[in-house]
Amino acid sequence: MSGIAFSGSELSLSDEAVLVIGAGLGGLCLAQGLRKAGIPCAVFERDSSPEFRRQGYRLHIDSRGDGALRAVLPPHLHELFRATSGRPRPAAAIYDDQLTSQMDVAEPDPVNLNINRFTLRQILLEGFDNVHFGKEFVGYEQQHGSVLAHFADGSTARGRILVGADGVNSAVRRQYLPHARIIDTGLRQLYGKIPLTPQTRELFDPEMHAVFCMFGAPDKTVLGIAPVDYPEPVAEACARLAPTLRLRDREPYMTNALFTRKEFLPHSDAELRGLSGPALGELVLDRIKGWHPRIRAMVHSWVPEATFPVVIRTSVPIGPWEATNVTLLGDAIHAMSPAAAAGANTAMKDGAELAAALGSGEADAIGAYEHEMRDYGFAAVRTSAQMGHQYFGQDPLPTDAA
Ligand SMILES: Cc1cc2nc3c(=O)[nH]c(=O)nc-3n(C[C@H](O)[C@H](O)[C@H](O)COP(=O)(O)OP(=O)(O)OC[C@H]3O[C@@H](n4cnc5c(N)ncnc54)[C@H](O)[C@@H]3O)c2cc1C
Repeated sequence: MSGIAFSGSELSLSDEAVLVIGAGLGGLCLAQGLRKAGIPCAVFERDSSPEFRRQGYRLHIDSRGDGALRAVLPPHLHELFRATSGRPRPAAAIYDDQLTSQMDVAEPDPVNLNINRFTLRQILLEGFDNVHFGKEFVGYEQQHGSVLAHFADGSTARGRILVGADGVNSAVRRQYLPHARIIDTGLRQLYGKIPLTPQTRELFDPEMHAVFCMFGAPDKTVLGIAPVDYPEPVAEACARLAPTLRLRDREPYMTNALFTRKEFLPHSDAELRGLSGPALGELVLDRIKGWHPRIRAMVHSWVPEATFPVVIRTSVPIGPWEATNVTLLGDAIHAMSPAAAAGANTAMKDGAELAAALGSGEADAIGAYEHEMRDYGFAAVRTSAQMGHQYFGQDPLPTDAA
């Protein structure tokens, strides 16, 4: 990895550096893959630290995410990822709002791992020192085969390639592909978390420790739950595999999320964002009036300060564009509803695929990456939209989606 030095408002980098905007799961996967391939790279993240923002808790990782992590991480860190991932029952369990089992759908993918999002992010940050927090990207200029990135603090950085890994509101995408649209799915998610103690464990039947378990009403309002637990104590796994790493989260929990149409809520998005944890909990209880008392008891067990709202949006697939030395990955290009739990898996696959393409040294590495990524990325957007419509009442994608 090449060193990085600040000179005035200029960051001095190797001419060959890849500039990655965004230290989310996709950007960090790319950075780890480039490090492994010996390609200089620097990551620029708007948040002041990795803990800054709540983005959800549990992630379901399937063979796409696991394969990407295996490809980019040193073996001991991939092993640590596996050692800190729970093994839920490989099925989706579907109940009605009175707790009557409706269906149990076996997961088709052979890999089903549930991990705490922040744990995974910490593992992806390990051993990689070229991440610059507090650097908000605002725009770029393409100049004579190089790219100059501009940041909100007035500084700039020049590199060979610029990668927008800056999530659903991507500033890179807005400049590079201004015709690409992000739209509201009509769904809102109220997100909560229940620590798993001997008392709260009583709320959940063993079959509910599945990849995903949902309780649904006829109007498609759904309470979804999913466990995060650890096959071995986290401190022991770290001591065995990465003694310098201090993983912060180590207590098992059940993640909970209410999915509902925005019309069913009495608040605008701005008002939702302003509600306290207890007020959001009351709102959920109001939405599930008359549901089985055990489901209501789950919501009563939410940790108030860990409750927050999410506006669920999706990208609209677009046709091919001409490849240059600016590209995109993850939610920045193919954001999707969480219905198929595919967003993080696809973002990490992008990171691994792009690192492999750049490592191959082929002249059209970016074009080849984008060709594949558009296929599997937009396919995942469509599948997520179909599942979101079927299970949660998400608006269908516009009919003009490419
Ligand atoms: C509640 C919830 C549950 C989910 N569960 C799952 C799941 O189980 N499985 C799954 O596969 N997916 C899941 N997803 C989707 C998944 O979280 C996303 O698809 C994934 O995080 C996308 O990764 P990314 O790296 O593309 O973007 P992000 O993780 O959003 O990272 C983007 C980064 O860019 C930074 N950034 C943004 N703008 C700028 C800027 N201007 N300058 C610098 N930095 C910037 C952001 O701060 C952020 O750190 C879930 C999503 C939600 C909301």
